[in-house]
Amino acid sequence: MSTKKFNINLQLIEKIKDFRFKSIKGKKSFTQIQLDKPVSFWIKEDRLLKKKGKEFTIILRTKGCSWALGDSGGCSMCGYIQDSTIEKIDQIHIMNQIDYAFKEKLNDIITDEDDFIIKIFNSGSFFDDNEISEEVREFIYKKIATIPKIIEIVVESRVEYITVEKLKKIKKVLPNKYTEVAIGLETVNDYIRNNYINKGLNFKDFLNALQLCSEHDIGVRVYLLFKPPFLNEQTAIEDCVESILALAKLKVNTISINPLNIQKNSLVEYLFYQNRYRPPWFYSLFKCLIKAYRDNDVLKSVRIISSPSGAGTKKGIHNCLKRECNTLMSKTLEEFVLTQDVNCLIKIKSEVPCNCLLKYQLQKYFI
Ligand code: SF4
Ligand SMILES: [Zn+2]
Repeated sequence: MSTKKFNINLQLIEKIKDFRFKSIKGKKSFTQIQLDKPVSFWIKEDRLLKKKGKEFTIILRTKGCSWALGDSGGCSMCGYIQDSTIEKIDQIHIMNQIDYAFKEKLNDIITDEDDFIIKIFNSGSFFDDNEISEEVREFIYKKIATIPKIIEIVVESRVEYITVEKLKKIKKVLPNKYTEVAIGLETVNDYIRNNYINKGLNFKDFLNALQLCSEHDIGVRVYLLFKPPFLNEQTAIEDCVESILALAKLKVNTISINPLNIQKNSLVEYLFYQNRYRPPWFYSLFKCLIKAYRDNDVLKSVRIISSPSGAGTKKGIHNCLKRECNTLMSKTLEEFVLTQDVNCLIKIKSEVPCNCLLKYQLQKYFI
């Protein structure tokens, strides 16, 4: 895809491309056995639309994200290309990956007392025919249709691949399952999204996709990147609060907040090793959520979730590096996601859980 339509940062793109090249050059090809298994899959507790439940997540291995493989080099924080094949992958492997995950987990799903949401992710775009063909998408929908305990489904896609035909197809095969398309908007701010994250996405194109989904009775889940590169903690909070409120007013169904974690061969990894980027503090995320909820009834109809990768480590969201401090914060965040009750975050914050809070307060405008 061309970068021309976006407000781009050429210097940033050149750097990102260098890292992407390094990442692709050093990659070994996958064996046939590896190609028949997903990158990973798991079951864990999750928030369903109206109640607590479980998620069945499958991360498929595909060719890789077109944005990362194209002229732009991809997003500044993303290292997902590491898991992709880069070369076109025979679609039979994708079906085998799905079969493999279902075979391993089907029994757990049907015997579980909770209902499920299934998340089919491919670290790129589910609707990109170069990653997943129409036939394979249909194969996946039909498989899901046979399991009544799966009541929700979510797939992810860049907006350029979301079309009327593709949305109609999901609805046709899965008319009774609540479906969401997840879009990596990252922030409502076009400047931050395209200059610092190199997302190659304008807000107005997101709005068109949102409209299309709502016309076809498909929900929209928005990914927000918490603390993009070149923002300090305080600015990150402000950016995320603004994004949450704007998206809630637009009536998106779910907001998934992804605190940035350091991924291999990404531009942000380079900044991290140069001490020019620190992953966000838990305190900031809590502050952001509390601030967004304060006096904002508009949030009542939106599901807000966050399941940070690498939480509690140097490369993920963390406070100080004391285990008790991060465990407490992670558990509290989980509780908030499952209950959607902001009071659990308020309670922790007012108790001053660790003496690193003071250090955080002194640093938040500078890091
Ligand atoms: S964050 Fe998403 S859109 Fe950006 S390069 Fe990675 S997979 Fe592609
Ligand atoms: Zn601490």
